Amino acid sequence: MQAFKPTSFIVGLTGGIGSGKTVCSDHFDALGVPVIDTDIIAREIVEPGQPALQQLVDAFGRSILNQDQTLDRSALRKIAFASAEAKLKLDQITHPAIYDLTISKVSEVTFPYCVLVIPLLNSDSAYLDFLRRVLVVTAARETKIERVKKRSKLSRDEVVRIMETQLSDGDRLKIADDIIENDASLAEAQQQVEVLHKKYLELGLQD
Ligand code: ATP
Repeated sequence: MQAFKPTSFIVGLTGGIGSGKTVCSDHFDALGVPVIDTDIIAREIVEPGQPALQQLVDAFGRSILNQDQTLDRSALRKIAFASAEAKLKLDQITHPAIYDLTISKVSEVTFPYCVLVIPLLNSDSAYLDFLRRVLVVTAARETKIERVKKRSKLSRDEVVRIMETQLSDGDRLKIADDIIENDASLAEAQQQVEVLHKKYLELGLQD
């Protein structure tokens, strides 16, 4: 990993499954704010021709590739989640690549601030070293379950199982500087984004 000293004001946006991260980050985007999403970067680093894809093939074999040489995500998931050792290997390959590409993208920002979406941000995360603010999107547990069920057709149990692998809102709030409580309408979530946008513009311009 590169040592990184940011020149731009970077706001980390996180929250649990179904909390409304995308709703909020889409609104920052609509306001003209650069939004960088580590989930998208995680897909980019394993595109054909990328070094991380070759490293994964070296580590796990060619069975993780589709016929067209793209990554077969479900094959990789099966192998990598079969043991703690394999999961560690997966993380050792993908995490530094995601971090480095993230840094290269945030380094190109010319706007007074940018929003970096990091769904799995936690208190040990290397990203915390350079984030200037952490924005946590929250919603009541039942609201999140209902939203995800509606969006994905997952069962309640499947949603709950995913939630249990993630940080609790209580733990997320320990690293929060700002909070969007997304329990009401979309318009109300967007209004909270607009209030924060003004604040971040001021902070970023002062920086
Ligand atoms: P994930 O981590 O699962 O991708 P997320 O945190 O990005 O979720 P969104 O995709 O923004 O969450 O929201 C989940 C679903 O809930 C979406 O279908 C979205 O349209 C809906 N939703 C989010 N907030 C609201 C709201 N305030 N009112 C109504 N629907 C909402």
